[in-house]
Amino acid sequence: MADEEKDCIFCKIIRGEIPSYTVYEDDVVKAFLDISQNTPGHTLVVPKKHVKDIFAYDDELASEVFARIPKIARAIKASNPDIIGMNIMNNNGRVAYQSVFHSHIHLLPRYSASDPFEIKFTDNSASYDEAKYKKIQDSIIKHMEA
Ligand code: AMP
Ligand code: ZN
Repeated sequence: MADEEKDCIFCKIIRGEIPSYTVYEDDVVKAFLDISQNTPGHTLVVPKKHVKDIFAYDDELASEVFARIPKIARAIKASNPDIIGMNIMNNNGRVAYQSVFHSHIHLLPRYSASDPFEIKFTDNSASYDEAKYKKIQDSIIKHMEA
């Protein structure tokens, strides 16, 4: 086993070396309650394969992992009639608030607009500049894998 898997907290949870409040498990993913419940029912969906972040997924793993999310999301929603929405979040890189470097998807049930959790984006639409946007678009397209 590679060192990064041996020492990884989520690999330890997957191997059963650390307890977790598992809500779903199959051969591809394990879903368990986040230890720090930002909202009640806050769940992490974790691929059993140790991948660091979204940049490390191949197509097959992505389709297998992400295909499981709606089912888990529905179960969480059905678990409490007060859940009226859900944020699904995935942080990649320290700058994007990733703190555990085994990829995971946050499912954050929402109960009201005043949940103690929010993702607020700055409205930058006033600085819209067609040429600038086009350049960004072109560069992304240029780097897209076939
Ligand atoms: P992120 O900051 O996106 O990398 O999220 C990591 C998440 O893992 C945080 O929300 C932590 O509360 C959660 N976490 C860390 N250790 C555990 C653990 N042992 N069991 C469940 N959740 C954990
Ligand atoms: Zn891991």
